[in-house]
Amino acid sequence: MKLNNTYCAAGNLTAEESLERLQKGNERYMFDHMEHPHEGAQRRLDLSTAQHPFAVILGCGDSRVVPELIFDQGVGDLFVLRIAGAIADDAVIASIEYAIEHLGTRLVVVMGHEKCGAVMAAVAHEASEGKINSLLSYIEPSINAVLYNSGDLLTNAIQAHVKQTVQAIQQAEPILSHESKSGNVLVVPAYYNLSTGRVDFLEARVRSTVSSHI
Ligand SMILES: [Zn+2]
Repeated sequence: MKLNNTYCAAGNLTAEESLERLQKGNERYMFDHMEHPHEGAQRRLDLSTAQHPFAVILGCGDSRVVPELIFDQGVGDLFVLRIAGAIADDAVIASIEYAIEHLGTRLVVVMGHEKCGAVMAAVAHEASEGKINSLLSYIEPSINAVLYNSGDLLTNAIQAHVKQTVQAIQQAEPILSHESKSGNVLVVPAYYNLSTGRVDFLEARVRSTVSSHI
């Protein structure tokens, strides 16, 4: 896929420039050199009439995985969707469509994380009388896909689920599929390490970019 280098409304950043901004912020977070940008009363006032977040982050509800902190960004920078297991149900897809179509965002990051409880529950086939089964049904196909792979099943399942979610977003008809195919929007898989704070981008082309910065 070729990504268009056209500039967009989200701070005049291309998707690749937006990704670089996230990577640099994550580096500051990892090494405890956070700048805490875009906070305070003036920023709040500046954003009171419009917002142009430069990235959508679809992440888990886990209390340890906080996108604004992990990427050292402030108010109005990220359009954050947090849901257990970082699944992409219709409401999540609709929310991404809104950010792309109405806010001009050109980068979507799907971020799984180490020891994700939602994926753990799906791996363990934990039964529940509540609504959790419908959530786990989004994760189970990814587990089946890596069931016989070498390495740690949970880590493999989390990373497979992130990639599967990226595909689901890229294939969501008609808006996101069109934007992905035309190269207007970049959707990338990522994996957050709880102890180091590092975000690994799980796509070969993106990973090579990361290694030049971190
Ligand atoms: Zn989780």
